[in-house]
Amino acid sequence: MHPIVRETKPGTCPECGMYLVKEKPKAEKIVTAKDALYTCPMDPEIIREQPGNCPKCGMKLVPLSGGHGTGHESHASAEFDFRRRFFITLPLVIFTILLSPNIQKWFGFNVQFPGIESLTFAAGTLIFFYGGLPFFKAGKGEILAKNPGMMTLVAFAITVGYTFSVAATFLFPGESLYWEISTLISVFLLGHWLEMRSVRGATGALAELAKLIPPSAHLLRDDKSVDVLTETLKIGDLILVKPGEKIPVDGVVVSGESSVNEAMVTGESRPVVKKMNEKVIGGTINQDGSLTVRVAKIGAETAIAQIMKLIREAQASKPNVQLLADKAANVLTFVAIFAGAGSFLYWFTLSPHGAVFAATLAVSAIVVACPHALGLAIPVVTTITSTLGAKNGILIKEMKGLEIARKIDYVVFDKTGTLTRGQFGVEKIIPAGAESVSEEELLTLTGAVETLSQHSIAQGIVEETKNRRLTLPAVTGFKSFPGKGAVGTVNGKNIAAGNLSLLKELGAVGTESLVKLQGKTAVYVAVNNTFQGIIYLADIIRTESKTAVKRLHQMGIKTAILTGDTRDVAEEVGRELGVDTVFAQVLPDDKVNKIKQLQQEGHIVAMVGDGVNDAPSLTQAHVGIAIGAGTDVAVESADIVLMKNNPLDVVKAINLSRKTNEKMVQNLIWATGYNVLAIPTAAGVFYPAFGILLRPEWAALLMSASSIIVVFNALLLRKTKLE
Ligand code: ADP
Ligand code: MG
Repeated sequence: MHPIVRETKPGTCPECGMYLVKEKPKAEKIVTAKDALYTCPMDPEIIREQPGNCPKCGMKLVPLSGGHGTGHESHASAEFDFRRRFFITLPLVIFTILLSPNIQKWFGFNVQFPGIESLTFAAGTLIFFYGGLPFFKAGKGEILAKNPGMMTLVAFAITVGYTFSVAATFLFPGESLYWEISTLISVFLLGHWLEMRSVRGATGALAELAKLIPPSAHLLRDDKSVDVLTETLKIGDLILVKPGEKIPVDGVVVSGESSVNEAMVTGESRPVVKKMNEKVIGGTINQDGSLTVRVAKIGAETAIAQIMKLIREAQASKPNVQLLADKAANVLTFVAIFAGAGSFLYWFTLSPHGAVFAATLAVSAIVVACPHALGLAIPVVTTITSTLGAKNGILIKEMKGLEIARKIDYVVFDKTGTLTRGQFGVEKIIPAGAESVSEEELLTLTGAVETLSQHSIAQGIVEETKNRRLTLPAVTGFKSFPGKGAVGTVNGKNIAAGNLSLLKELGAVGTESLVKLQGKTAVYVAVNNTFQGIIYLADIIRTESKTAVKRLHQMGIKTAILTGDTRDVAEEVGRELGVDTVFAQVLPDDKVNKIKQLQQEGHIVAMVGDGVNDAPSLTQAHVGIAIGAGTDVAVESADIVLMKNNPLDVVKAINLSRKTNEKMVQNLIWATGYNVLAIPTAAGVFYPAFGILLRPEWAALLMSASSIIVVFNALLLRKTKLE
């Protein structure tokens, strides 16, 4: 139960008395740049743990993590490859432009010399092969992956143009398209270079997280500190963290006191004071004191590693609009080919303007219809959303959940630990049995049983026994009744502690003559099945709870409390916070039915709970929000995990969902909408009446611009305030 407890000999746990089990050796390492993830330079949605080629476009995957140098350089190399090809071909492109008879005619100059045709051919060929290579490779990859798309279209368009020009040079007399094709390639190279640069900006956050872990740590060995690589640390090692340094791993403070800035992991901007026995998180910054820390988690288990994993999963999990975008992109690919073939046929046969004109228009139409912006529209947004969320302490596990979150009209809160602090303090002990057990004795017997319970009420009772310096006897036959209480045998007596329904279920006698204390949580205690008294506890309502409920109401969202606690306690909290509905005395198994009930009334329901016994209701709700995950971010049943214990973050998460959706819709409208005008223009529809044409290089510029606009629009999301 307590992974921090580590002894060299077998025995029982000093924390809970359970038998110690043998520890499994761990082979895992700290996450470093070497364990980097790989992504497609063109498609941030593709994330793999191994290097290789992109399954979608066939491009070589590049390390995602900026790590400690290496990853960054090789990611940049793919981006710089486009840049290099752009600059190397640029003089040749200018050269072909200047030699083009048409350009000379338009600008009224004349450069003629023998062999000019062969020179243009040579320059055009160089540009075609050297500049076009990345597109051919990627196009081939797409076709091999049976997923022809953007790159196939680009490769196809420039090949059509080039083949046509070669034929015009050698086979039949006619104008060539060299300068058009050259500029087209040039613009594509430029577009991809700029686009990759912005996509890199969008994916940078995972790399930033990996960079939080300092590469080395001060290991304490026989009271001397040795500097070692972080990845060589083992669980149980003692390390020293000096003021101003980053904490290298998750651990527990053994000595020292300091305030720690945990903002990068939990989103909490105020520094947190850390004393003995408190947990620290790797990657956070130790501010003013020195801390000696015992390493508790390494490798994939650390909070940072888990957060990175969650972000990765979130980025891989597709929102439903993605399917729509994918479908639209497929359709558009065919539209592009159809528009290209259609315009060639039309302008060549039906309205003969010559092969050059027809081919130019065909190339323009294909280029402008490339569904690239559409392919990027959603993934760039989800990438930024998941990292923006993480920065605010909101981890998105399932994009579909975040997608619906904007439509939520009912938020159901678990009471204990969510709306309240979950730190119960004992208010009053009332011995009430016939045998007149003393207050202390009642507390001792109950405390002994509750040491084995994980419930926050149990912790409150145990805390009180510590305050009163009571020694707790051993307990045997412990059994927990979720949502009701616990039983166990202490000093040969059968003790039951829990709510009224537990005592009734156990058939305890004497429970009728009760002294009631309004608004306090009562733990009834029975000894040998006879009622002996009540321990009253109270919990503190979080200050943020009230604001959260108010904000939700302002957003038109109703709120409810769902708790296993008694009606009068629940209603008092409900009144205090102003929630719309109170579901009290609900057993854990029944909580899910309350969610179903709201859903049947037609509500879109979010359930906010600590994830311990709320798992079924988190799953049942449209959006399951686990709160207060702290370092245990891997909450299974939730769609969204909140790192902090702050109900206001629910409001933030809903806002994030709304903002995300806005961006997705804007991007989709832009990415599809621009085609409505661009494709017909490129195909020459407005030529006869208005003389408007879209030359291939302008088509390429427009196409690239539309992709870049989509990325930039998504990047704007980074600046968003969620409150
Ligand atoms: P919540 O819904 O507020 O999280 P639970 O469902 O966990 O509450 O528990 C419901 C009630 O069951 C508590 O209010 C308490 O009366 C009783 N209970 C549960 N566990 C214990 C325990 N270990 N000791 C005493 N009472 C308990
Ligand atoms: Mg609970």
